[in-house]
Amino acid sequence: MTDRYQKQRMKMVDLQLRGRGISDQRVLRAMEKIPRHAFVPDALREQAYNDNPLPIESQQTISQPYIVALMSSALELTGKERVLEIGTGSGYQTAILAELAERVFSIERIAALAASARRVLDALDYYNIAIRVGDGTLGWREEAPFSGIMVTAGAPGAPRFLLEQLVVGGRLVIPVGSHSSQILLRLTRLSDDPADIKTEEFCGCRFVDLIGEQGWKNG
Ligand code: SAH
Repeated sequence: MTDRYQKQRMKMVDLQLRGRGISDQRVLRAMEKIPRHAFVPDALREQAYNDNPLPIESQQTISQPYIVALMSSALELTGKERVLEIGTGSGYQTAILAELAERVFSIERIAALAASARRVLDALDYYNIAIRVGDGTLGWREEAPFSGIMVTAGAPGAPRFLLEQLVVGGRLVIPVGSHSSQILLRLTRLSDDPADIKTEEFCGCRFVDLIGEQGWKNG
């Protein structure tokens, strides 16, 4: 895709992602392709490729590009998967997942955000994304199971319903910790018992709260 931000986008991928060890070629290609500036408020377009998160509507944030790349790589997608995302927000991460998997299901609790993400994703011709407004900590039972689940808001713990909706061998990537700081975790489901999981720690991070029945109780 050529647009006036293409140079900045290539530089972002080179310096912020390749330069910091992101090596999944499909993730790098998706992030070279997707116009991140289309997902940020108009006034912040010039900053869309900077090395930091940015505010979006409703006091939420679009994650830092490196964190998007790290979380996307952690799911180890090949293109055949059904993936669930919790926290659609701007829809940027949703678009990345749509490039990496076969179908993406995304849940957002704030209706206004879900609607604007839908508009941007439609304008970019993504047809393999379903978005629903609701509490993502409960998962999306009718569409389960999923090969990968990504939570893009900070949680006090891994929601049990999400582990139950993973296939055996499936991965849940989720920031877990306090309101002010979390550790990015990858939980791999090992057997029919959803409590039988392998846990890997990636890095420290800071996300907005995951608010819901299996998250923080109040916004
Ligand atoms: N991936 C998004 C991140 C947005 S911030 C992006 O890069 O733009 C996290 C989002 O999670 C917010 O939009 C917030 O409203 C949403 N969220 C928080 N708790 C949620 C829940 N229980 N279910 C669904 N969405 C939730």
